[in-house]
Amino acid sequence: MSMPIAQALHAIVGEIGLLSGEDVSARSCDPFRNVPPRGGLIVRPASTAELSAVMALCSARGQAVVAHGGRTGVSGGAYAGESEIVVSLERMRAVLEISPEGPLAVVEAGASVEALQQAAAAQGLFYPVDLGSKGSATIGGTIATNAGGNRVLRWGMTRQNLLGVEAVLADGTVVSSMNRLLKNNMGYALKDILCGSEGTLGIITRAVLRLVPQPSSQDVAFVSVTDHAALVALLARARRLPTLSAFEVMWPDYYDLVAASDTGRRPVPPGTGPCVLVESMGYHPESDRRQFEEFLFDAGENGLIADAVLAESGKQVAELWRVREAAEVIVRAMSPFVSFDISLGVADIEPFLPRVRDALLQRFGILRTATFGHLGDNNIHIAAYVGPDTAALESEVEAVVFGVLRGYDGAITAEHGIGQHKRVFLPAHKHTGEMEMMRRLRDALDPDRLLNRDVLF
Ligand SMILES: Cc1cc2nc3c(=O)[nH]c(=O)nc-3n(C[C@H](O)[C@H](O)[C@H](O)COP(=O)(O)OP(=O)(O)OC[C@H]3O[C@@H](n4cnc5c(N)ncnc54)[C@H](O)[C@@H]3O)c2cc1C
Repeated sequence: MSMPIAQALHAIVGEIGLLSGEDVSARSCDPFRNVPPRGGLIVRPASTAELSAVMALCSARGQAVVAHGGRTGVSGGAYAGESEIVVSLERMRAVLEISPEGPLAVVEAGASVEALQQAAAAQGLFYPVDLGSKGSATIGGTIATNAGGNRVLRWGMTRQNLLGVEAVLADGTVVSSMNRLLKNNMGYALKDILCGSEGTLGIITRAVLRLVPQPSSQDVAFVSVTDHAALVALLARARRLPTLSAFEVMWPDYYDLVAASDTGRRPVPPGTGPCVLVESMGYHPESDRRQFEEFLFDAGENGLIADAVLAESGKQVAELWRVREAAEVIVRAMSPFVSFDISLGVADIEPFLPRVRDALLQRFGILRTATFGHLGDNNIHIAAYVGPDTAALESEVEAVVFGVLRGYDGAITAEHGIGQHKRVFLPAHKHTGEMEMMRRLRDALDPDRLLNRDVLF
């Protein structure tokens, strides 16, 4: 007779590596809702070798697992049911190497994005993936979800910054693909398959990430525009700036809410059109500033800007970013709401937004929204409240929004991933051949569906 799973796991990871009871129930798998893991155990391996032994044991026992990074994911990918135990990377959080020659970093999967950013900055380098959740979001979690964030239009999503990866497969096999080279065409790009796989193909343990020199200039303006046509024209002009690093749009429903909640978050008077935070980061402070001012002047002269504030200090830069990073205001003022991170063509956004609002209002009779996003990467976020029963109606709200989105050939998630929340909608938005290839890949690597079994599809 084999020993109980908790005892067998304890033999691998020791006392410090295994949590149970209140240590488990006090945690949440979701950053905004209290959703404790229901399986009763959290395993915390300290090394890839320990994780490999854990997965070999789980594979032999048919024990399903869910990987946990910083638990900031918003699509339910880290939810763990009664039959699942959690594997947390929280004891594997070292920044192992910052190499100025690459420049690159070698990092354990449990390190936070912020810890990597700080270690890179200490050597005059910069890890450009940047999210509001960077203090808790981990390198493993951001690779698993191919996280985007605020500076994608300049430096790309996590995938574009990933050179190599190490992972443990469902049966305990260690795949070390810790490539450090920019050019390496030796077969399948396994890192690109693991990136964005949401923990369904393997558990990421280490990564090699590209760094860039730390920018020495950061110029930020907060502007309002009169309408969508001006917004699109402003984006086109901003794209001519070689130093453009962010173009973050806040529609009036978002800005009115945030500006009303906090007078410190009202840099320009609310108007009829959207507001935009435009950021430039470069390496020549004086000429970068001059170029940025010329861009603003030119946009103003051409009637694209209604009102503008240009940050004059690092403090003002942070204050302007606070207007855009106001997730807590939305949570406080609008809960319960359903949150969307959809992608669609820039030209389609103008017809899409009123159409989706009309469809929601017609279906539910009540509607409040907050709309914002990374327009330069086609990505908009919508928080939608349809009354006190919004949480119970989540699936219906999603069906309405995704139904309208299908008409525009958009993506139901731009950066947060499918998780558990959106999996029922995925097949309708993917080609059947794509679904089949994903299924075959998953079946080949994890035939018993032990890894994140309710995630993705
Ligand atoms: C305030 C706030 C702002 C945010 N802003 C952004 C944003 O701008 N852009 C963006 O893309 N996202 C954003 N997010 C979402 C979230 O931060 C990202 O999805 C992030 O990548 C999740 O990382 P995590 O370590 O918290 O992962 P978790 O939430 O722990 O897990 C997310 C998924 O990845 C899997 N996973 C975790 N670690 C591993 C691993 N080592 N190996 C394999 N699978 C793993 C989990 O099983 C789960 O399916 C935001 C969230 C919050 C709360």
